[in-house]
Amino acid sequence: MTQLHARGLVKSYGPTPALRGLTLDIAEGEIVAVTGPSGCGKSTLLHCLAGILRPDAGEVTWRGHRIDTWSEAARSRLRRTEFGVLFQFGHLVAELTGAENVALPLLLAGTGRRAARTAALNWLDRLGVAELADVRPGEMSGGQQQRCAIARALVTEPRVLFADEPTGALDTVTGEQLLTHLVRLAGEQRTAVVLVTHEPRIAAYADREIVMRDGVIDHTGLGLDAPLAGG
Ligand code: ADP
Ligand code: ADP
Repeated sequence: MTQLHARGLVKSYGPTPALRGLTLDIAEGEIVAVTGPSGCGKSTLLHCLAGILRPDAGEVTWRGHRIDTWSEAARSRLRRTEFGVLFQFGHLVAELTGAENVALPLLLAGTGRRAARTAALNWLDRLGVAELADVRPGEMSGGQQQRCAIARALVTEPRVLFADEPTGALDTVTGEQLLTHLVRLAGEQRTAVVLVTHEPRIAAYADREIVMRDGVIDHTGLGLDAPLAGG
């Protein structure tokens, strides 16, 4: 069932068109990779879907609600609850430990300290980095930081996770390990993932690949891991 629906999205930065009438549906629990050459509008699409940017025209509907017309405060609240966002560099808070970083979204949502810490430790463990609970980001590798960032993005159990080049700063092996975790954990709780990437190997982890060109969808394909129709 479609949960997130974008219709006729148009967005320009001054004279530069980034989206030129793009329509897209994302179903519950679906993992969608958005690919295409640099500058084709991938990040802009992600920002519009996640409610970070407002499109100039078109609409974004979440579970039947027109969210692109919501106030900044309402969209921001959505990104702390039903939506999650993950960027290329995890943007962990340098002064906080791994566990404190992961607990942060829960604390902001009003969860008690003890429960938030328990959940954070559980998520670090699920990402295979329990040992980072008391380590600060400055002492972690890039891959370790991104695992903490994924734990932080999933700890609120969002219904959609928006990920912009989440493996872009990592080497291939580390990036693929990270994607494996992300896809498995999202699947376990039926979190849909919108994954912007320019790496075909990463797109292969998705259920569906959306290939963009010049602000529109050029074509749609299955992730390479998907079973081929007719064997
Ligand atoms: P992609 O993620 O595929 O690289 P973007 O969505 O970042 O594409 O960019 C689409 C187009 O919009 C490009 O031409 C880019 O230069 C332009 N653009 C993106 N962000 C801005 C901005 N903040 N100001 C001006 N132009 C921008
Ligand atoms: P991100 O949010 O992906 O880390 P930035 O921090 O550069 O990227 O984005 C800052 C703001 O610039 C965004 O909230 C948006 O208004 C605008 N923006 C969106 N896409 C781009 C882009 N590709 N390049 C530069 N600015 C962008």
